[in-house]
Amino acid sequence: MTDFSELPIRDDLRGERPYGAPQLAVPVQLNVNENPHAPSAALVHDILAEASAAVADANRYPDREFADLRSALAGYLGHGLGAEQLWAANGSNEIFQQFLQAFGGPGRTMLGFDPTYSMYPLLSRITGTEYVGVPRLADFEITAEHAVAAVEAHRPDVVVLCRPNNPTGTGLGLDVIEAVYAATAGMVIVDEAYQEFSEAPSAAGLLPGRERLAISRTMSKAFAFAGIRLGYLAADPAVIDALRIVRLPYHLSGLTQAAARVALRHAPELLATVQDIKRQRDRISASLPGLGYRPYASESNFVLFDGVVDPKRTFQGLLDRGVIVRDIGIPHTLRVTAGTGTETSAFLKALAALPND
Ligand code: PMP
Repeated sequence: MTDFSELPIRDDLRGERPYGAPQLAVPVQLNVNENPHAPSAALVHDILAEASAAVADANRYPDREFADLRSALAGYLGHGLGAEQLWAANGSNEIFQQFLQAFGGPGRTMLGFDPTYSMYPLLSRITGTEYVGVPRLADFEITAEHAVAAVEAHRPDVVVLCRPNNPTGTGLGLDVIEAVYAATAGMVIVDEAYQEFSEAPSAAGLLPGRERLAISRTMSKAFAFAGIRLGYLAADPAVIDALRIVRLPYHLSGLTQAAARVALRHAPELLATVQDIKRQRDRISASLPGLGYRPYASESNFVLFDGVVDPKRTFQGLLDRGVIVRDIGIPHTLRVTAGTGTETSAFLKALAALPND
């Protein structure tokens, strides 16, 4: 057999390719919006201590309701949220998968504003949900009027709003979320994976009285915890009850729960890296025009920039100099994650050395 498509697989999966940015052993990795700061020795030590208790209990299934972790997440988010309004999974990708298993599915649609996070159409497909991508306005903005018109035209079961948006870095006013919520009878999920890098208030403040609204967050970015896999969601307790129907029993391992609890106790230390990352992001945005490129405004930990004559050639030129960025497929653009000061300098130096004609 030469190809999985020859198996009696679902027709809609035949010919698909697995998602994934290249994972290359390159000195300067600025391609998947990770946090460049590794955990401190003190944090590693504390996680291992808590993990050893979880391992000592490994003959038992973990707490299926991860009550302690949910209280800690509620405490971190604030806004008067309680543990019963929190849910967590193995990364926010799994949060979205569960959300679509519960609220999407065959015969249902999810609406997003393109270009946006590439996993939305993919997770739609694997849950049998139809994805409708409505183009953004100039500079990738979305206004309330534009969003409401899209919702009224398509009447989706789920609307996803990514703020700040990946891959463009664009922010989104709370007024747009309020207007979309009022215009739809479906669910609205706001993806705040990069919220800690933004000056804008979290949409969590909009939750009271809006039982069809959910806010998705992750520890992969600001918390520098991508390798542990912890995404979470805040919503009305009824939404959490719906997710409980589709989640696999014991989906969050005892090790994951232990590591995340400790990381939340170290939140101030971990979030201290956010200021430095924002400085590097702003440095990238300020330096690009001098190199002949046009950055889009970013409220996130990455910058999308325009004016790249041949993105594939520039991507390769940077890679040859030990720097990996992301070619998202938007013509004449590349996306770069803010690294440490040294990594950011390496990127700017490598880019300055490349022709762009
Ligand atoms: N949402 C957005 C907008 C993202 O960019 C990402 C990761 N790049 C995710 C969700 C998923 O992150 P994770 O599964 O690591 O929580």
